[in-house]
Amino acid sequence: MKTIGLLGGMSWESTASYYKAINQGVKSKLGGLHSAKICLYSVDFDEIEKLQHQGNWSETAKILTKAAKSVEKGGADFLMICTNTMHKLVPEIESAITIPILHIADATAELLVRNNVTKVGLLGTRFTMEQDFYKGRITDKFNIEVIVPTKEDQTKVHDVIYNELCQGIINQDSKKQYLDIINRLYAEGAQAIILGCTEIALLVQQSDTKVILYDTTAIHANRGVEYALLGSN
Ligand code: GLU
Repeated sequence: MKTIGLLGGMSWESTASYYKAINQGVKSKLGGLHSAKICLYSVDFDEIEKLQHQGNWSETAKILTKAAKSVEKGGADFLMICTNTMHKLVPEIESAITIPILHIADATAELLVRNNVTKVGLLGTRFTMEQDFYKGRITDKFNIEVIVPTKEDQTKVHDVIYNELCQGIINQDSKKQYLDIINRLYAEGAQAIILGCTEIALLVQQSDTKVILYDTTAIHANRGVEYALLGSN
């Protein structure tokens, strides 16, 4: 079994979901007392969040490349960045380490392709919904059209992530707002919705809607388990 490197703490609420899903995945495949070999570096999200909202991505890159190097030194065979947003920094992080990065958008898009989804809605932080590092990758590499909510809806989605979900707050009004936004994207032709922020599944689950949801945390964790166990059973 390979050792899984996790770059977490963004936020720790979703890193806890990763930790649980990865261990459950290994246990379900190997049984008994088996658990995942994990090397986790968890950052202080307060520091990261301030820099993100100042647009100081180069400083966040310094923190995350240093953390990624520690994970590599700690013995990880590959790296998983436990946030969609910070995949913006994949080029910088990749160039600082020698182990591969298991990309969250690739894992998700591979599943979309397998399920013949050609037009998908994306929910995430404003950075993920607005900028091209995530949407562009899914469209250019996998030929899938990605649509995002209106500016006003993006603000709601973004604010709930930082003011509630990353702080462990689950609010039923916010859930209703998310489900309305999901329905609007569906009405615009999205065949499915990417929950492109690792905390969203804490608020909205598949049982809440008929629209097909792709939970990036679960998909990424599952991909990590498969990769860690490749060739070992
Ligand atoms: N976990 C979130 C994501 O998947 C947002 C927090 C962050 O900005 O890293 O994008």
